[in-house]
Amino acid sequence: MPTQHHHQAIVIGGSLAGLLTARVLAEQFDRVLIVDRDQLPVTPEPRRGVPQSVQPHVLFSKGYQILEELFPGIGKAMGAAGAIRFDWGRDFQYFQQGNWMPTTETETGVESYTCTRPLLESTIRQRVRQLPNVEFLTGQRVIGLSGDRNSIQGIKLRDGEEYSAQLVVDASGRSTQTPQWLQDLGCTPPTATVIDPQLGYATRRYRIPIELQPKGKIVLISQVPPNQPRLGYLAAVEQQEWIATLGGYGQDYPPIEEQGFLKFAQSLPDPTFHNAIAQAEPCSEIRAHRATANRLYHYEDIRLPDGLIAIGDSVCALCPVYGQGMTVSAMSAILLSRWLSQPKQQRSKVLNGANFQKQLAQSNAFPWSLATGFDSKFPTTKGAIAPNWAGKLFQGYADRLVALSQKDVDVHLQFLAMAHMLKSPTSLLNPRLMLKALF
Ligand SMILES: Cc1cc2nc3c(=O)[nH]c(=O)nc-3n(C[C@H](O)[C@H](O)[C@H](O)COP(=O)(O)OP(=O)(O)OC[C@H]3O[C@@H](n4cnc5c(N)ncnc54)[C@H](O)[C@@H]3O)c2cc1C
Repeated sequence: MPTQHHHQAIVIGGSLAGLLTARVLAEQFDRVLIVDRDQLPVTPEPRRGVPQSVQPHVLFSKGYQILEELFPGIGKAMGAAGAIRFDWGRDFQYFQQGNWMPTTETETGVESYTCTRPLLESTIRQRVRQLPNVEFLTGQRVIGLSGDRNSIQGIKLRDGEEYSAQLVVDASGRSTQTPQWLQDLGCTPPTATVIDPQLGYATRRYRIPIELQPKGKIVLISQVPPNQPRLGYLAAVEQQEWIATLGGYGQDYPPIEEQGFLKFAQSLPDPTFHNAIAQAEPCSEIRAHRATANRLYHYEDIRLPDGLIAIGDSVCALCPVYGQGMTVSAMSAILLSRWLSQPKQQRSKVLNGANFQKQLAQSNAFPWSLATGFDSKFPTTKGAIAPNWAGKLFQGYADRLVALSQKDVDVHLQFLAMAHMLKSPTSLLNPRLMLKALF
């Protein structure tokens, strides 16, 4: 563990990105203060500051690996709280383009846990609370940054108080105000790229009788651009419940009343989702969520004042269908840890995050292009991007691999490893796979 030599850091937002950031900052700073506008609950509960917390949150294998690295034994703690360990090769039923992807009989090592978002967040929060130099300031809304256009000195709270810090990290998610706060200080704020699939979710929890439960622990009946905008996602979670989500692209929003919800489920291209919920016992309201646009703030392009960094959804908010957000936040925390451990940052009393934001932009590039590339295939997506020739070539190759992976479990597993960010996308360019795709 590197020696602590920086004094105080402040993290705005105590959700996934904020908690993981605080965990890595705790190694480098004497004191880390997490400030959140919510009173953070002690038990797993949805909360206002994270409106998406009632929606399903799938944790990718890479995200889970990082959690274990930062909090050894956290999987066991999640399991003890009711989360279900599962293997993505064996326990994930994935219906895509008219076919079910193959599954394996045995474990593949691409593993994770399935549970509700509040349970996951609460387990991580408990571990962060145990860090002796991390403190929480809750029920306090940050309303601005103190300092000037060259250097950020701390934060301003709504109740008039100010806290100073050597480093302020914005982890306040989609509702970030940092671009506005920078402008207030006379800085040029980052520009944003927005690609909006106009996707809506509707989610309900159920108790499903054993004989009606699907074979896998997670089932996805996938959308297929450009003409099939609907999807269904069903996952086992704690307390013997299942979380059932319907989604529709291009404002084809799933209804939030019972009959409409079931009818939408029935319209999916495979009956597995509908069969599982039709006779099941609902144990929640149906909750909608429509804030799903991809939004990227280009912090890498601005002259960033000293003492400020932005991370998580406040920088790169991704369409949730691809399940990447929490894993991207986890990867960003690891990147921050490495950046802070560099001799230059270790020696320096003043931290300028410009270089970190450039590295973060590179790290976010793949998940961003994956989400926006797929979303752009729907004609209803606002701000859709057209792929360049290299993108088209790779897409054509990837389409062949997808078709092949419906019959070939080995190809499917290679895809899984890439989708879970365990391997880089270039891993798909290996000669064996290319020969399979060609012949
Ligand atoms: C519908 C939906 C489904 C999703 N599904 C998945 C999924 O399946 N898998 C996945 O990996 N990711 C998923 N995500 C993404 C995931 O929720 C986020 O990527 C993840 O929570 C990291 O976000 P964050 O911590 O940056 O921000 P958030 O989770 O949004 O948290 C922001 C925090 O900042 C606090 N805050 C905000 N403003 C202030 C302020 N001014 N002062 C003080 N506190 C403030 C809030 O109270 C909150 O605690 C989904 C997102 C949505 C919208």
